[in-house]
Amino acid sequence: MNKPVLLVVDDDPQVLAAVRRDLRSRYREQYTLMSAESGAEALDAVRELKARGDALAMVISDQRMPGMLGSEVLARSREVYPLAKRVLLTAYSDIDAAIKAINEAHVDHYLSKPWDPPEERLYPVLDDLLDAWQAEYLPDAKGLRLVGHQWAPRSHAIKDFLGGSLIPYHWLDVERDPEARVLLDAAGVAASELPALFFEDGSVLRDPEPRQVAERLGRSLSAAYEVYDLVIVGAGPAGLAAALYGASEGMRTLLLDRHAPGGQAGTSARIENYLGFPTGVSGSELTRRALAQAQRLGAEFLAPLEVTAVAIDGGYKRLTLGDGRELVTRTLLAATGMIYREHPAPGIAEHTGAGVYYGAARTEASAFAGRRVLVVGGGNSAGQGAMHLARYAKEVLIVARRESLHDSMSHYLMEQIQKTPNIRLQTCTVIERVEGNGHVERVALKSLANGTSQVEEADALFVFIGARPRTDWLPPNVLRDANGFVLTGRDAMAAEGFARIWKERREPLPLETSVPGIFAAGDLRIGAMNRVASAVGEGSMVARLAHDYLELQ
Ligand SMILES: Cc1cc2nc3c(=O)[nH]c(=O)nc-3n(C[C@H](O)[C@H](O)[C@H](O)COP(=O)(O)OP(=O)(O)OC[C@H]3O[C@@H](n4cnc5c(N)ncnc54)[C@H](O)[C@@H]3O)c2cc1C
Repeated sequence: MNKPVLLVVDDDPQVLAAVRRDLRSRYREQYTLMSAESGAEALDAVRELKARGDALAMVISDQRMPGMLGSEVLARSREVYPLAKRVLLTAYSDIDAAIKAINEAHVDHYLSKPWDPPEERLYPVLDDLLDAWQAEYLPDAKGLRLVGHQWAPRSHAIKDFLGGSLIPYHWLDVERDPEARVLLDAAGVAASELPALFFEDGSVLRDPEPRQVAERLGRSLSAAYEVYDLVIVGAGPAGLAAALYGASEGMRTLLLDRHAPGGQAGTSARIENYLGFPTGVSGSELTRRALAQAQRLGAEFLAPLEVTAVAIDGGYKRLTLGDGRELVTRTLLAATGMIYREHPAPGIAEHTGAGVYYGAARTEASAFAGRRVLVVGGGNSAGQGAMHLARYAKEVLIVARRESLHDSMSHYLMEQIQKTPNIRLQTCTVIERVEGNGHVERVALKSLANGTSQVEEADALFVFIGARPRTDWLPPNVLRDANGFVLTGRDAMAAEGFARIWKERREPLPLETSVPGIFAAGDLRIGAMNRVASAVGEGSMVARLAHDYLELQ
């Protein structure tokens, strides 16, 4: 197997030589360096690499070139190598053009020329991007292979777990990939044992639970200590931030998630509005960084592990886990966020996992390459999901109940959707019924404007119709509003029943619930902002507040 390639494109021979020199001195051991003097030459090289089956890790292109702008070179190479990192080289005076290109060509970074010294201004950026590429890239002949039926909910559950846990794998559909049959026959796996997960050493797990997969991959599901200072339930942005700051405050900190790290944010194809990421960042990339940082500072992380109940035992909280075990902690952070609302239309429940997916655009998108899919919902998550699906699907139809999406979807996303030729939007419309034989084949729609029905052929329906808080595992003394959102601080004090529960002399701390030492942060809290940044802010605050609470004890 050849080394992955770094491709540099610049029409100025001096600049090209300078980039080549700097790249060679740092990356020659791991990567092959290629260069091109024009956009057309670069795209020829990209197609040639693809034909040879080589990996392309990064394209670095100058913006101002005769014939073709760098942003176009990057956008077109992305069509051939969607995972390759894209860096635009600009003169300082061209920053506006670079920012525009970020939106249009999905550039990962822009670098202003000159970048001396490279140790400060070039290598840290490229190292970071190449680390991110390495985390996603899997050579064809290597790694985990998951073989199963595309329409089996169990296949979807394992894909979702592996994808969410940032573990690269190859998906092989037993009905479409000839290699799947060869693997199954060689290992003697029967049809009833699917999905099957093949490891590099030749071993195979037949029809596994996510938990068995985690254990087989060497991920411990046992806590290291009997008593913790801070246990955080839910590893979305709020939980990850609390784990990072909790551990750095010196508290014995454990983070748990019933599924995988990242929460809702982890499923986002591109978060555009998180501070410090001018080119946007994918949810999985943000999660990878946050988890690595929290663990490096000493936080422990266990998943998949669900917390099903909490009992208060003096100053301690006893957590019951899904497998019946117990954990004890002095402070607890509830950061279990929200879960997608189920769509009530007939046919949806029986096809869930078999063509109907809740917010799973990232996990399933590539399985629908060249097919027709529907997205239902009119908010940002529906818009982001549709944009991601449009990279693979032949056509994406967004179905929204509202007349206009201006109030529910961000302006930049609306613009991106309008410019994407294979996305269609149908407003004032609802899903009436989903039909199919074992998997989704047709979706009946109904117009709210004139009451007419239409039937759309589709292979999948991705549902993004809002969410509800996941708070049913909390004890009744943690006061909630009528919709289940947790009350904290002054909101808790104002609630009926507070005085009956709260027996401390002090008032609750700002993110403390009506039970001393139990905190809440992120989307499950009443009045939450439903943003990654606010969840991160609240999670970081709780680490400090939990520390203060322990000092008071
Ligand atoms: C598709 C999509 C795109 C988005 N894009 C953006 C964006 O671009 N910008 C932005 O600012 N915001 C965006 N958001 C919103 C943002 O992701 C959320 O506001 C944020 O993730 C909330 O974080 P959280 O930590 O409160 O909870 P969540 O992210 O909801 O995480 C909660 C975690 O708790 C776990 N959990 C639940 N119950 C249990 C239990 N009983 N035991 C153990 N674990 C449990 C879940 O598995 C989950 O991992 C987007 C949301 C979605 C769905």
